Amino acid sequence: MDIQYTPPAAMQLGVGLGLVEYIPFQIRDSFVSLLSILRPKPSAGPKRRNFPIDDLADRLDPTTEEKKEFWKKDFGVIMTHDVDTREGYEYGLSKFVEIERQEDIVSTFNIVPSSSAYNLDPDLITNLVRDGFDIGMHGLHHDGKFAFLSDEEQRTRIFEAAKRAKELNLPSIGYRAPWLHRTKKMVQYLTEAGFEWDSSFPDTDDSTPGYAVTGSRTVFPFYPLYREGETWKQSPMLEIPVSMPQDWTLLYYYKLSEESILRVWKKKMEYIKSKGGVAGFIIHPDQEDFGHPKYHKAYRSILKIIKAADPELITCSDLAKRWKKKFPPAFN
Ligand SMILES: [Zn+2]
Repeated sequence: MDIQYTPPAAMQLGVGLGLVEYIPFQIRDSFVSLLSILRPKPSAGPKRRNFPIDDLADRLDPTTEEKKEFWKKDFGVIMTHDVDTREGYEYGLSKFVEIERQEDIVSTFNIVPSSSAYNLDPDLITNLVRDGFDIGMHGLHHDGKFAFLSDEEQRTRIFEAAKRAKELNLPSIGYRAPWLHRTKKMVQYLTEAGFEWDSSFPDTDDSTPGYAVTGSRTVFPFYPLYREGETWKQSPMLEIPVSMPQDWTLLYYYKLSEESILRVWKKKMEYIKSKGGVAGFIIHPDQEDFGHPKYHKAYRSILKIIKAADPELITCSDLAKRWKKKFPPAFN
């Protein structure tokens, strides 16, 4: 996967100086809203993705029809939560678990193993796994620096995250890039470190600063490519697309009301259902996002909307295992 990476200069400066972690989220989010005003218009270049639907890869792929047959229902849903903050870890996580239990849903929590905001309790993780929840590594740190590090430093972080995952005895070793910051080397290092799945590529990305022209353009899992020297290699690691707009994006980038957010999610999910793909959600348990009590009602509502659509609800680990069995990766 060849990635253009052009973070806005101010963002790069903030991250480079380590300031981003210390900027209160209200200011950070206004900054992102400001970026949304400055974002290139659709006519700015041929590479720009359509949002929230860009199905170019699915239209070109001759195996799209075959992939639909994977599900026991019409389509699949993955519910994931990136635990970014202390409040998200100490409060939002257990609240989401409680809400999901009432709806008989299990989700995937992506945790930061070396977080500056919280100390991971291995017993909490063991109990979640015992209850059917899934756990992925949300990078190693959540400091926003990953994409600006040298190749060697990126490699070190990814290998350390894999080591931490192995120590926790998880159902599988999975990854979600912090801030969804992908780099040209990320897939190669994840593959070499033994990650079995990654879920860091939106199908179409309109708002991650620096990635507004990227996106996998598919609502199906796939095996990503990476470049080694002059050749392209296919990773045996399953890429699970982030095919639903994030709560954060809709709240702060598009500044939508809860009602509108639910409408956008429902519409996109109906589209994915019609295609037989996977709806990959990221809903944050953090206080500035859907983890705040004022959004719990909306969170319950989206779970009800999902259940009414009657998908196969699956964790990232289960999807990766079953997909690899049905559609084994190519050997290079
Ligand atoms: Zn995050």
